[in-house]
Amino acid sequence: MNKYIKFKTRYIDVNGVNFQGHPFVGVSYPFKSKSNPGKTHHVHITEQGLTCECIGFSRHANCWHSKDVAKKLR
Ligand SMILES: [Zn+2]
Repeated sequence: MNKYIKFKTRYIDVNGVNFQGHPFVGVSYPFKSKSNPGKTHHVHITEQGLTCECIGFSRHANCWHSKDVAKKLR
């Protein structure tokens, strides 16, 4: 679905947000990596929910990037 996502894609829901037809679907938020300054992770808003490109998210479906975007959506 998205060429930037190399790992198995996972999605998280945000309480109170219906992603079906949400106006932010298709929007990506870039975050500069804290551990690797040359790298940027994107949080993507999809109809399945939020997904992030960082390794932490692909392993745990949880990271500060996705939490930050979830706050914007509420
Ligand atoms: Zn992340």
